[in-house]
Amino acid sequence: MNKITIVGAGRVGESTAQFLASRDMCRQLVLIDVREGAAEGAALDIQEDAPLFQFDTKLAGSNKPEMMAGSDLIIITAGIPRKPGMSRSDVLGTNVKITDEIVKNAMQYAPDAMLLFVSNPVDILTYRAWKVCGWPRNRVFGQAGVLDATRMASFIAMESGYSALDIDAMVLGGHGDSMVPMMRYTTISGIPVANFLPQKSIDEIVERTRNGGAEILALRQNSSAYDAPAAAVATMVDAIVHDRKRILPSVAILDNEYGCNNIAIGVPTVLGKDGVEKVIELELNADEQNDFNQSVEMVKKDIQSLKDL
Ligand code: NAD
Repeated sequence: MNKITIVGAGRVGESTAQFLASRDMCRQLVLIDVREGAAEGAALDIQEDAPLFQFDTKLAGSNKPEMMAGSDLIIITAGIPRKPGMSRSDVLGTNVKITDEIVKNAMQYAPDAMLLFVSNPVDILTYRAWKVCGWPRNRVFGQAGVLDATRMASFIAMESGYSALDIDAMVLGGHGDSMVPMMRYTTISGIPVANFLPQKSIDEIVERTRNGGAEILALRQNSSAYDAPAAAVATMVDAIVHDRKRILPSVAILDNEYGCNNIAIGVPTVLGKDGVEKVIELELNADEQNDFNQSVEMVKKDIQSLKDL
């Protein structure tokens, strides 16, 4: 990939830039932030570790949106993160205004780009962006499930004592309390996790995964999670840049899949050079379908509230 822009040089944005640069995922990496000097400073700081990490990606930082011109991919991490006690929906009003402006800039300066949303509430902002730009749905998507799944896999590794390398987890639904951890599709070396852990431990892991973001926020107090989120974004970007056709959960616009339309929500997708190349439909049992339906309702409620903004 030639050029990637990250809008929002805060914690997630900067950490993502470090991952992308140190793996040479593009020739040019641009950071944009409204805070004077913030993006330039982050770009220079990362550029200076190029000899150590052995990459030759060229970084630049700016507060000028036109710096995104010609980007192949724009990653949006701009906005306000939630504070302890806030839900992701509580930051909706502010973040919609911020991301609307970014999407309009993308339409002007990088009309062929893909948009990867990270800012929260990510399902709602992905949907909103798709409505605003009118681009094909494969080019407008968000990150949530890769993070939720890696959290769940890590908790399984901690609880079972087995290597995190062998754990494959799947999470569906909205990125929030209504996410749907799919234990039936979560395995250790291909063997269902129920073979290794009692139901009580599995239930606790599901609950901890749902509260994964809040747990870190409660510990840190003045910052939400950014290391694992940035690693999750980098994993999606890697799949796109290398056209890997990986099956990873994305916040995708649904077009009749899972019986839904006109919504963005977490589902398994195929990620390759064209972005979200396919939505994979899983057969859900009655409980999973019920949980997924509840998640859809919660996302729809937030989408509905966009009309009042
Ligand atoms: P942060 O406050 O460290 O960074 C946000 C940055 O956005 C700030 O530097 C701010 O100056 C910048 N910004 C604000 N308005 C802007 C604009 N119009 N143009 C350019 N930059 C602008 O926050 P963070 O911890 O990096 O989190 C960023 C977002 O990512 C939050 O919305 C957070 O909730 C979300 N997040 C999502 C996930 C996920 O899994 N989807 C995970 C973690 C965080």
